[in-house]
Amino acid sequence: MAVPKLALDRPFTYLLDEEQGAGTGSLVAVPFHGRTVNGWVLGRGTEMPAGKLLRVRSVRSPVRFFDAAMLSLLRWVSHRYIAALATVIERSHPPRVAGEEDATSAPVAGPVTVPSLRAVAEPVEPFLLEPGVSTWQRPLPGEEGASCTAAVRACLELGRGAIVLVPEADPVPWTASAVLEEFADRSVAFLGGEPRTRYRTWLEILAGRYDVVVTTRPGVFAPVPNLGLIWVSREVHPGHREDRAPYYHVGEVAVARARIHRAACVLSSFAPSVDTVAQIHDGSVRESRPDRTTERANAPLVETTPPEGEDRSARLGALLKSVRSAALIVSRRGYGVARVCRTCGEPAACAACRGPIVVRRGIPRCGVCAASGRCANCGSEAFGVERGGTERVAEWAARVSGVPVRLSADAGPPAAPGPGTVLVGTASAVKDVGPVRLDLVAILDPDRALRRAGVHAAEQALATWMEAAAWSGPRSGGGRVLVQTRRAGHPAIQALVRWDPLPYLRSEAIRRTEAGFAPGHGVYRISGSSNLPDLLRAAGAVTVLSTTAERGTLCLVAVPPERLEGFRREVLRLAADGSVDRVEAEPQL
Ligand SMILES: [Zn+2]
Ligand SMILES: [Zn+2]
Repeated sequence: MAVPKLALDRPFTYLLDEEQGAGTGSLVAVPFHGRTVNGWVLGRGTEMPAGKLLRVRSVRSPVRFFDAAMLSLLRWVSHRYIAALATVIERSHPPRVAGEEDATSAPVAGPVTVPSLRAVAEPVEPFLLEPGVSTWQRPLPGEEGASCTAAVRACLELGRGAIVLVPEADPVPWTASAVLEEFADRSVAFLGGEPRTRYRTWLEILAGRYDVVVTTRPGVFAPVPNLGLIWVSREVHPGHREDRAPYYHVGEVAVARARIHRAACVLSSFAPSVDTVAQIHDGSVRESRPDRTTERANAPLVETTPPEGEDRSARLGALLKSVRSAALIVSRRGYGVARVCRTCGEPAACAACRGPIVVRRGIPRCGVCAASGRCANCGSEAFGVERGGTERVAEWAARVSGVPVRLSADAGPPAAPGPGTVLVGTASAVKDVGPVRLDLVAILDPDRALRRAGVHAAEQALATWMEAAAWSGPRSGGGRVLVQTRRAGHPAIQALVRWDPLPYLRSEAIRRTEAGFAPGHGVYRISGSSNLPDLLRAAGAVTVLSTTAERGTLCLVAVPPERLEGFRREVLRLAADGSVDRVEAEPQL
């Protein structure tokens, strides 16, 4: 049933006439409890149910939206993230634009004939393309795009197709542009766009017109025929996580798809996720990185200094006077934070919600509810402000540095790092811009970023710092990285200094295990009836944290992989009897 409800998440059996021309992956209309609803054909029924069989009323589309192998993947996603299969199928292709189906379902001339490939410039480790195998690959700074292009070329030489997944579409990441340019005659950019174009592109991919698809999140399901490689660029980037049902993570789905479709998967990043580190440790993901000597020689030169007020330091000031290019990365936006009310002397808090008041473009506003900044105690709009953040740093840097300063704004086209520019921005300004060489990359307040709550905060911070640090080029090239920290011995800071993320991420894996959320466990936020914690424990959850919310109980649970199957069955049963009303997989904690 094409109905996104867990309670209806099971196959139903209907009679389908052969003349109707439908099969696995077809969208059909069927009678259901006196109504006509859409349904997906999952395949032949294996046993005859009791009672009278109803007929499929009509076939809604000539398109086959999935084949048996893709259905295995969609089922895997539905199981792993406890989502209705109908929801997963719906999200695996762009919304239908029926008019496009007639145009594209005309016979296709088959894949375009392509001139013979150039010789492989950079050798690719042969095991990187081994069917069914997933690898975490650590590129050398500035070489991610080149490694990706080389792997795609090697894959095409084997006569198979490739998917390159990037975390964002706007601006187009450099890795994506590099692949599209290199394989111009056989690749397609499947990156957002308006619905009609998007659906047409998907139909063309299904028809086999391209063997390289460069895409974002939903493209992990792109129906590339004879798939040989899935490349995931910047695997820790938050853009790889789907933030609506089925809440999947692209890296995880890519690894599963590689296994099911006998393709290779490469997770590429300077610093992997803690989950990937755990998989490297248990042998399910392989590790590929340059030897330690090469890695050290190409690593950036990193020094630390204690921070002073307003996210700066004497050392930073001295460096800024002499550099011709720099990137300054701060964790806060704006100009500062209101600390105290100038009128009544109380600590500053939002009158509407008591949240913190931050100053952006000269205007104090609540950082939580965005109401204009008024004191919760007396309503005054005058505050004593502790200065710091991107705007304040940009203002100061413009006075100190002899080169133009550009502030990477929340909206509008992002500023790019490059010669003759001092770029100031937050983690969101750290984009895949291809090889650059900056005189200075400064991480201004890593201690604040490390204090941030959230299971994934630290791994994402480290990955971002490494990407920014790589902009300074190898230590022999004259560029340097300055880290303003009071915790120079912190393992995350040491990971940056030594250019080796694994020891820190392994310790994070242990910390998560001790907290009851071991890497590899399924984590779900489930709401429902007041006895939900006991029901979920009985269903196989090992960790259950619960709070009472307005409407019922909210539970955060962890489930070991070997119990997931039984746990899901039980949750579906609880959904059917009304004890569970919502499931969110892998919530942003
Ligand atoms: Zn507020
Ligand atoms: Zn006041």
